[in-house]
Amino acid sequence: MKICRECFYDVFEEEVHSCIIDNQLFKPGERVAIGASGGKDSTVLAYVLSELNRRHNYGLDLFLLSIDEGITGYRDDSLETVKRNEAQYGLPLKVVSYKDLYGWTMDEIVKMIGLKNNCTFCGVFRRQALDRGAAMLKVDKLVTGHNADDIAETVLLNILRGDIARYNLYFLGTRIPLLPLLLHFDNCFCCETLTVPFTYAYFKRLDYFSTECIYSPNAYRGFAREFIKDLERIRPRAILDIIKSGESFRIATSTKMPEQGTCERCGYISSQKWCKACVLLHGLNRGLPKLGIGRSRGHDNDECKKEAKQTTEGKEIQGKPCGTLDF
Ligand code: SF4
Repeated sequence: MKICRECFYDVFEEEVHSCIIDNQLFKPGERVAIGASGGKDSTVLAYVLSELNRRHNYGLDLFLLSIDEGITGYRDDSLETVKRNEAQYGLPLKVVSYKDLYGWTMDEIVKMIGLKNNCTFCGVFRRQALDRGAAMLKVDKLVTGHNADDIAETVLLNILRGDIARYNLYFLGTRIPLLPLLLHFDNCFCCETLTVPFTYAYFKRLDYFSTECIYSPNAYRGFAREFIKDLERIRPRAILDIIKSGESFRIATSTKMPEQGTCERCGYISSQKWCKACVLLHGLNRGLPKLGIGRSRGHDNDECKKEAKQTTEGKEIQGKPCGTLDF
C-alpha cells in the first residue's frame, strides 16, 4: 500500500490495537511491564501501547522495565534514552542491573572471558533479570518488542541448532516462569519487517538509541540474518513466511521435552538441578567461566568435567547477541 504519513500511523496503530483485542491480550486493571532497552523496537512498543491504552481505555497500569548489563559506552547511554522515555510517556521505570543480581557487570565478565562467549552469559542473565524485574514490579504480564526479522532469524536458528525445546516454548508461549504470559508484540505481525518500526519511530521522531553493543560479536545469528536477507531479495514475503511456518510447526508428542522445575540454588525456573544462570555464575566465581558454556544438563561433577573437556576441545557454543528471542 502506498499511503501518506498520517495514514501509515493509523494503519500501524490499528493493526496493533486489533491484535490486542482479537487475541484478548489484556484485561482491565492488569499491571504490564514493557521491556525497554532504549532501542527502536521497544521504544515503538512503549509509545504505541501507552497511546492505545489511553485512546481505547484498556485500563492497564504500564511500567518500563530495563536491564542494565553494565556495558560502559553502550547500556549506560541507552539507559539515558529510557529515562527520557519515562518522562516523555509518563511511565514509571524500573532498572534491574546484573551487578545487583549477579555481582558481575558485562564489562567485568568480558574482561575475564574475552569476546567469544560473552553473549551466552548476557543472554542467560538477561532472560532471568527480566523475569526478576517483572516479579519486583508485581506485574501480570511482560511485553517485549521485536521486529519480524529478529523472529524469523530465531525460528531458523532454533531449527538449525535442533533446539526443539526452546523453539516449542517460544511459539507455544509456555515459557512462563513468573508471569502468565510473555507476549511478543510481533505476534500480530504489526512490525512486519525491520523497516516498519524504524519508519514509524523515525517519522514520529521518537527518542530512541541506535548504537550496536560494543561486545556484539560476529555470532552464528549473523549467518541466519544474511541467509534471510538473501531469501527476502528473491521473495519479499520470505520473512513472514518463515514466521508463519514457525507458528504452524508442531513437535511430535513422543518428543521428550525438558520438565520444568526450580533451581536448587536460586529458586528460579529450571529443568535441571541448577538453572543456567547459576551454572554460569558458579564458573565465573570460581574463575573457570568456561565450565558453564555449552549445553549444560545441570550442575554435577560429571557434567562439569564433560563441559570442561568440551570447551577445551573448542566445542563451545557461541551465544546470541541481543535483539534475539533466546527464550
Ligand atoms: Fe549482551 Fe547483546 Fe551485547 Fe551480546 S550483543 S553482550 S547479548 S548486550
